[in-house]
Amino acid sequence: MPKAPVIFWFRQDLRLADNPGLTAAVRAGAVLPVYILDDENAGKWRMGAASRWWLEQALARLNDSLGGTLSCFVGAADQLLPELVRQSGAGEVFWNRCYEPWRISRDKKLKQRLTEQGIKVHSYNASLLWEPWEILKKDGTPYQVFTPYFRKGCLSVPPPKPLPPPAQAEFISGNLDALLCPRLEPLPVRPWHDKLAARWAVGEQQAGLALEDFLRDRLQGYKEGRDYLADDHVSRLSPHLHFGEISPRQVWQGALRAGLEAGCEADLDHFLSELAWREFSHYLLYYFPQLPEHCFNAKFEDFPWQRDAMAFDAWKWGETGYPLVDAGMRELWETGTMHNRARMITASFLVKNQLVDWRMGQEWFWDCLVDADLASNSFGWQWVAGSGADAVPYFRIFNPVTQGKKFDPDGRYVRRYIPELRRLPDRYLHAPWEASTEVLAEAGVRLGRDYPQPVVNLQTSREKALAAFHSLKRS
Ligand SMILES: Cc1cc2nc3c(=O)[nH]c(=O)nc-3n(C[C@H](O)[C@H](O)[C@H](O)COP(=O)(O)OP(=O)(O)OC[C@H]3O[C@@H](n4cnc5c(N)ncnc54)[C@H](O)[C@@H]3O)c2cc1C
Repeated sequence: MPKAPVIFWFRQDLRLADNPGLTAAVRAGAVLPVYILDDENAGKWRMGAASRWWLEQALARLNDSLGGTLSCFVGAADQLLPELVRQSGAGEVFWNRCYEPWRISRDKKLKQRLTEQGIKVHSYNASLLWEPWEILKKDGTPYQVFTPYFRKGCLSVPPPKPLPPPAQAEFISGNLDALLCPRLEPLPVRPWHDKLAARWAVGEQQAGLALEDFLRDRLQGYKEGRDYLADDHVSRLSPHLHFGEISPRQVWQGALRAGLEAGCEADLDHFLSELAWREFSHYLLYYFPQLPEHCFNAKFEDFPWQRDAMAFDAWKWGETGYPLVDAGMRELWETGTMHNRARMITASFLVKNQLVDWRMGQEWFWDCLVDADLASNSFGWQWVAGSGADAVPYFRIFNPVTQGKKFDPDGRYVRRYIPELRRLPDRYLHAPWEASTEVLAEAGVRLGRDYPQPVVNLQTSREKALAAFHSLKRS
């Protein structure tokens, strides 16, 4: 009698190399690879538009690597997977673990259901360098501050070496046509995702090339260069990491090798610590599953946020009148990503100068970012808002003018995304309202017509924010 096939369920691990669950499945028999887009269980956290664009490309590339055997489905995975097991006659199911609260609760139920049906379920770690339960304080409780988490906790547990792609794999497509769904769902407006296609190369192979490229050209000088907005002195690996086209272990080991060879220890250390911020955000999401919806520091729930639709719209579309904020927001819309420093500045502006609830900004990022990640996005917003774990103190309010002068001194970033200001002299580029009528006229800028007047005053909005924060302290 032929051996029953096994199912490998791809999730946030759309790759063949360093995929422990896939390697184990291949050892167990012929593998039926499946992917399920589960909006039903995701609920509010169903993938946003930019992520859906990425996913569709990533699945197409993965399917090529699997010889066209990947079956994709749309629906509740806890309903679909048992049905796929039944149809295919599979005796075992393999997957790699995910850490979003909705996935954890769904996977627990699913595992129980399959086990009750006599199906063996195996799960592995493919997405993190350290799983949350591996790093705890001496008293057994989770860390809430990054530096001891990383330096005392993580660095004492070397991450495992990455695995090669599974050898002698047999992938089969099975007989699952009844449930097969050829397209995931209609994609967002065409011109928008054409821009994303022009910007990004998706898939495991491309992720490997992006890593090589970064290690060769930009790891050296990363520590300083990562803050400069126009230079792109960063890896741009976040969407590849989010979708699991490359693993954090591959990135960690690659960086370690390249950094030690090049003798750029300070850059290496900084880059590894950024990977560890990604780990820390997953860690916090695991221990504090309310992170995406509720302030980590509960007192911020009483903050007098303003639900100002006009202010929010001006921010969303890069029309605040503050060039650095607007350039960041337009970068997001143009490319599906935003430089980390611009994320901090734009988020701070929304939450602190416009007093808009961080959750509104988080949702916009969720829809527009190709690397939208429940852990890193929620953590990033709460960090900026001051409500998070190990967050920036509330009184630290990024000033977009001084940040611009420091991190975009020659204005290349602003000019790239705000062409209407291109001809303004550097001196006024980050504060066009300071330019005289003659200077503006010469640059072809009519404030309030070609480019907006500032929507808020930096000084008074800062004072208002601090007063709101102090009222909170007293309550
Ligand atoms: C408001 C806000 C929202 C954010 N939302 C997301 C998000 O949805 N998804 C996301 O992946 N990152 C998010 N970040 C973190 C960070 O901005 C991005 O990870 C980074 O800009 C990605 O660019 P890169 O790959 O070139 O990073 P690099 O500088 O090359 O860093 C390497 C990797 O380290 C990780 N990393 C770097 N910085 C951080 C950080 N601050 N927090 C967590 N991980 C980090 C990323 O996986 C990144 O790919 C957010 C930050 C803020 C302030």
